Amino acid sequence: MRKQNISKKILYWYDNNKRQLPWRKHISKKQRQYFTLVSEFMLQQTQVKTVIPYFNNFINKIPNLKKLAKVEEKKLLKCWEGLGYYSRARNLKKTAKKIISEFNGDLPNTIEELKKLPGIGSYTSSAIIAIAFNKPIIPLDGNVERVLKRVFFLRNDHETSKENIFNKKSFFGKSKRSSDYAQAIMEMGALICKPINPLCFKCPISKNCISYKKNDFKIKPKNKFNKVKYFEANIYQNQRKYLLIKNNKFEFLKNLLIFPMQEMKKNKFSASIKKKINIKMSNMDMKIVLNKKNKLIKIRNSYLLDKKKIKDQILPSFTKKIINSISSYS
Ligand code: SF4
Repeated sequence: MRKQNISKKILYWYDNNKRQLPWRKHISKKQRQYFTLVSEFMLQQTQVKTVIPYFNNFINKIPNLKKLAKVEEKKLLKCWEGLGYYSRARNLKKTAKKIISEFNGDLPNTIEELKKLPGIGSYTSSAIIAIAFNKPIIPLDGNVERVLKRVFFLRNDHETSKENIFNKKSFFGKSKRSSDYAQAIMEMGALICKPINPLCFKCPISKNCISYKKNDFKIKPKNKFNKVKYFEANIYQNQRKYLLIKNNKFEFLKNLLIFPMQEMKKNKFSASIKKKINIKMSNMDMKIVLNKKNKLIKIRNSYLLDKKKIKDQILPSFTKKIINSISSYS
């Protein structure tokens, strides 16, 4: 099958099956740049269905790049609350400021310039170039990677190397509708060529797919290394308040409010008979002993959180999970 036919088939499928996502609305070019920038930052590490309500609220509260460049940190983080990886929100604002000051308010339209902006790496820059600027680039996200691994039946380490998969992207060819085409391939991977039980009977390129011919769809799992780490969290509290600190100690959750914590050795963790919880974050599997202390003490940079006003506070999900766990045991 010629490459042109592949793009036509995939686009035909996309036109009839795509999800109505808020950042795909028919909007002005300027808005498209802003919507793409915000959605791509949110989609780093987060699934589409989780992002949708956050995106809508964000655009409602901070409707354009100028407002984003000037937004107060408190408001910015409130819009991001619960989405996690807060450094993305801070980088998004820094990027907006740079675009205003160095690019006259227009998102740069080359990968090289985009990659110089805070929080934008190889994938995000190519997604912005394809989606916002309609340039013929196919961003290599996990969905596209999976489609290619299955189409070419890539199994061993050499075949599944980033470089080899990158080269295999030429399979898709090009289309004048570059923006739609990039989104169509990613969409096809997400909705049809699913990680488990792909819906090949709906797939527009099944005739080109070796995995389909072999009826073998296994994908070699990525070596996702989840580091197990052990912590003790000190829950200083009285009837009305919790004591939290602004985190400058750990690389994760930088500058956000957490309970005072320290890392501990595995054997000490295992020996402790106190309540323990497990929280997964990024590539870390955190095992935490909750050390409840029914008193407040004085610590530098600490903050007393009113238990009745937890909802009004900007708190990372991490801290909220700990609060939920301590409220469920006495
Ligand atoms: S035929 Fe099946 S395995 Fe092959 S690309 Fe389509 S959905 Fe994926």
